[in-house]
Amino acid sequence: MSNCIICETKLGMMNTPMFGMGKTKNGDRICVSCNQKLAKRNTPFCNSISKYSTEEFLEGIKYKKMKEVQEKLNTMNPKLLKMPEAFELPYILTESEIIERVEVGFLSEGASMLSSGFIVVTDYRVFVLDVNSSPTSSKMSMEDFPLDKITSISFERGLAKSKIKLVCSGNTTSINVLQGGDELSQYIRERINQPKTANQPIQANNNDPMEQLKKLKDLFDSGIITETEFETKKQDLLSKI
Ligand SMILES: [Zn+2]
Repeated sequence: MSNCIICETKLGMMNTPMFGMGKTKNGDRICVSCNQKLAKRNTPFCNSISKYSTEEFLEGIKYKKMKEVQEKLNTMNPKLLKMPEAFELPYILTESEIIERVEVGFLSEGASMLSSGFIVVTDYRVFVLDVNSSPTSSKMSMEDFPLDKITSISFERGLAKSKIKLVCSGNTTSINVLQGGDELSQYIRERINQPKTANQPIQANNNDPMEQLKKLKDLFDSGIITETEFETKKQDLLSKI
């Protein structure tokens, strides 16, 4: 039996997609779990794997991102690579998003060290990612905090775990952090105090202002956003043309 060409898990009866799914033109295969993730992210692409050679396929998915994430985590702390969150990251990050810091932590009070996830700082947001996977199911939760929406951050040291308190869009969220919380909160504080332009280097990526304006108009016309919201965002977009 061969290995999954994405995650390199050994393929067997239980984790090989049925009916010849997940097979490239060369006959190389991906596992059930990778197939599901890919289907969620990009169904048409996932359904047409057989049209591509293995090389074309890997190029087309987040393969590059996967390698990039793995290398990054490996230099930060190789232990992070063993956590299930490490494998989800490439599917969550946008094409141009860059990971800056990762620490181990979690949101809910009852969670323990065993069920903890990642606190990730990227070039435009902070997010807490928690993946609980068992052989039969996998549950993922994620909470997002855009850097330009965070108004304050504080740090409380505890015995086993410490807390980072984020105020984002008026809501306060406590994030439990196992290690490095003081450094991490200091890093986020510096990050949110940087000029806005430095926080949003990816804004331009596949976001053509003209296209955005059209979409914005659609949103307004269909009553999804208010006139005030429309006007504010419109000014914002016009300034980018
Ligand atoms: Zn796989």
